[in-house]
Amino acid sequence: MKKIIGLILSILTISIDAQTKEDKIVLVIHGGAGTILKKNMTLEKEKAYRDALTVSLTKGYEVIQRGGESENAVIEAIKVMEDSPLFNAGKGAVFTHEGKNELDASLMIGHTMQAGAVAGVTTIKNPILAANAVLHNSAHVMMIGKGAEEFAEKQGLEIVAPSYFKTEERWKSLQKVLEKDKEKTELDHDTKTQAYVPFNFVDEKFGTVGAVALDHQGHISAGTSTGGMTNKRFGRVGDSPIIGAGTYANKEVGVSSTGWGEYFIKAVAAYDVAALMNYKNLSSKQAGEEVIKKIGQLGGDGGMIVLDKNGQASFPFNTAGMYRGSITQSGKITIEIYQ
Ligand code: ASP
Repeated sequence: MKKIIGLILSILTISIDAQTKEDKIVLVIHGGAGTILKKNMTLEKEKAYRDALTVSLTKGYEVIQRGGESENAVIEAIKVMEDSPLFNAGKGAVFTHEGKNELDASLMIGHTMQAGAVAGVTTIKNPILAANAVLHNSAHVMMIGKGAEEFAEKQGLEIVAPSYFKTEERWKSLQKVLEKDKEKTELDHDTKTQAYVPFNFVDEKFGTVGAVALDHQGHISAGTSTGGMTNKRFGRVGDSPIIGAGTYANKEVGVSSTGWGEYFIKAVAAYDVAALMNYKNLSSKQAGEEVIKKIGQLGGDGGMIVLDKNGQASFPFNTAGMYRGSITQSGKITIEIYQ
């Protein structure tokens, strides 16, 4: 049975590199990179992820099909994953050390260079909508915490009790990491960086979500949404809401990152893809691969989705897996999880 399903899946899986220009990719998404191993995955769980990614791609695609704008396709695709408990964004976000869900999101429109982001929010049902509201309806680019929540409420966005975001699975993950923390001495040091590591989140899976879309006008937008990393502390903010690190778009390319955020911030990862294309004339694929290589050299891990103005997509990552998918102009869906 497993073999037959595997065969069907591989027949359905069309190599992204083999996409022709005529059937260019119009939307790419990710549901996070990390230690996603086939041996730890059940068929049911894998199906649930594939189904959720398919709905996300379909919702975003509908916007493009209607002649809508790329940023709205990104928002629709991300909203589906924020509402799903499977992903570390919106409902299903990971927990902080104190047992809270603190959410981050960002959105950027390439051709206008408009950007919006929120960080450390605890009551906004869909943080990507708040990022969009910051982008369109404020003079700012980034709002945090209470201020962002007050703004979102004034913008008429749905506000929920912090308990809305809680899922049993993420709660258990926190308990597991807290157990490991107890085994560590107070002043633990990261073996790679020798830096003070007051908390342990290295082993945890990631699971951030992101999308990049290319609309009929040739405009590109990118967005990212996350709960951050399990056991984060002291108001820690990762790369996801940071324009240039977690999200970036210009007229040529759009990028959304996922992985160990500290490294993506230091590498200015999402912007670096655009910069390598601009200054070094690399293709979007080469640029993405180069950036992930740099992240690895720094000691970090994760991945990114890259979509350029020609509809060429790439999905570089250096983890065991990354939930990822694409849909072409003609509606052909491809979903992949492992290396
Ligand atoms: N990049 C996110 C962060 O560091 C985590 C993730 O991608 O899952 O907050």
